[in-house]
Amino acid sequence: MNLKLVFLLFIISCTCTFAQDGGKFKVVLDAGHGGKDFGALYHGYVEKNITLNVALKVGKLLEQDNAIQVLYTRKTDVFVALSERPDMANRADANLFISIHCNGEPKKAAFGTETFIMGPTKNASNLEVAKKENSVIKLEKDKEKYEGFDPNKPEALLSAVPDATLNNSIDLASKIQDGFTSTLKRKNRGVKYAPFWILNKASMPGVVIELGFVSYEQEGAFLNSEDGQDDMAKAIAKAIQSYKKEYYTGGGTEYKEPAANSGTATVRIVAETKPAEKPETKPEAKPAVAAAKGVTFKVQISASGKSLETVPENFKGLTNISKDASAAVIKYYYGATDSYDEAKQLLVTAKEKGYTSAFVVAFKDGKKITVQEALGKK
Ligand SMILES: [Zn+2]
Repeated sequence: MNLKLVFLLFIISCTCTFAQDGGKFKVVLDAGHGGKDFGALYHGYVEKNITLNVALKVGKLLEQDNAIQVLYTRKTDVFVALSERPDMANRADANLFISIHCNGEPKKAAFGTETFIMGPTKNASNLEVAKKENSVIKLEKDKEKYEGFDPNKPEALLSAVPDATLNNSIDLASKIQDGFTSTLKRKNRGVKYAPFWILNKASMPGVVIELGFVSYEQEGAFLNSEDGQDDMAKAIAKAIQSYKKEYYTGGGTEYKEPAANSGTATVRIVAETKPAEKPETKPEAKPAVAAAKGVTFKVQISASGKSLETVPENFKGLTNISKDASAAVIKYYYGATDSYDEAKQLLVTAKEKGYTSAFVVAFKDGKKITVQEALGKK
């Protein structure tokens, strides 16, 4: 073999390796606690064991999809510093950060499942959960990296989460809770805001899932069982798959990230966001993109736990606002049209009004579908 050929083969193998890693949808699964940090411990049910089992099961399900790369903050019973968990996700430039936990409270009366996203809260019980999950810092020797953060005062965390990251986190959290409650009939405690150190540090959409209360005997037994862990893992994996399908194009082995929008880095991960920001340079106007029958496009401008009246005063003067209150988090839409081109114009208007992370969504006969599906490209 001559030297040139060897060099060529070397280049090819490098390129392939790079394409494989760089092209996948990356999910970081963070099994809460581990090693000397047991997490909640009641009735012999140990949080660190349940979270590890569920994380490994979720990973196994996701790994069946060649387009997904799963990364674990731990795969065995070891102690991992709190700061290392989001750091790992940031280093990998992951698409999602999923932290799995169990609740526990001394009265042993509360039960049900809840999913947290980063944000301020005045709710005492939400703050308690954040304090409990942040408190592992006390077990760590090197506290300097926490920059004086007091785990007992999580409300001090700055939560400058970009709108798009927050919206995506809310959407994912809603999907997870829907799976737990609609399919598995677990008690729904909802999607909630709380100041978690790990979510504050992770630079991608992320959630902290509280599978349930190990302090509540029946729920603890369910979560500690093989069947219970299988069920919860399936629901989480399904939600992640659904999220990926909704926000990302592709889906084969070669995952294709949607093109970045100029100047708006925070909305780059939303596949549907292709605002008509550049003026048409061609002299002849393009024919309108035909949508399938029964399809309606709207612009999703916000998602919130608060129920707002759909009047212009509440939406920066925009009219024709509709809302979907079927999930814990209420989604607000601007406009309704069967023309994709018109929807893109509505998107520009919404962005000009200040809804910078707005994006186009599509419905068929009232059911949400992807924009690609609406345009008959799938
Ligand atoms: Zn925990």
